[in-house]
Amino acid sequence: MNDSRQVPIAPELFTWPSDQPRLLGSRCAGCGNITFPRADCCPKCGLETLTDTELASKGTLWTWTSQSFRPKPPYKAGDTEETFKPYYVGYIELPDQVMVESRLLVDDETQLKIGMPMELEIVKYREDGDREIMIYAFRPAGV
Ligand SMILES: [Zn+2]
Repeated sequence: MNDSRQVPIAPELFTWPSDQPRLLGSRCAGCGNITFPRADCCPKCGLETLTDTELASKGTLWTWTSQSFRPKPPYKAGDTEETFKPYYVGYIELPDQVMVESRLLVDDETQLKIGMPMELEIVKYREDGDREIMIYAFRPAGV
């Protein structure tokens, strides 16, 4: 089960605690457009009749890049210039829903291939006192 000290980095970003967490988006009642993160107003048609919707936990890798130096503030992962480790980010295309920007859970770029299946995972980002700040990320599916 999930640890109650684990706190999402932002409210209403994903279902948590959960054994099968899902990202939370908004679906427009007018045009059907889906946004992530949640929105109060449809960026496509301007309507404000949006309902919360749980997004697919699996998608495909649309593109990716590496972050090889430590980002400037407000980056706050709890590391230092000395302990920073390069990481990967990319866009995951959720079928018939929306494109999601995400961290990618891989050790190196040989594990990444555009179009490959990816799945959602909630992981620890940093510690904050006795709490663990949790973020969403995607990893190669079935690995
Ligand atoms: Zn709309």
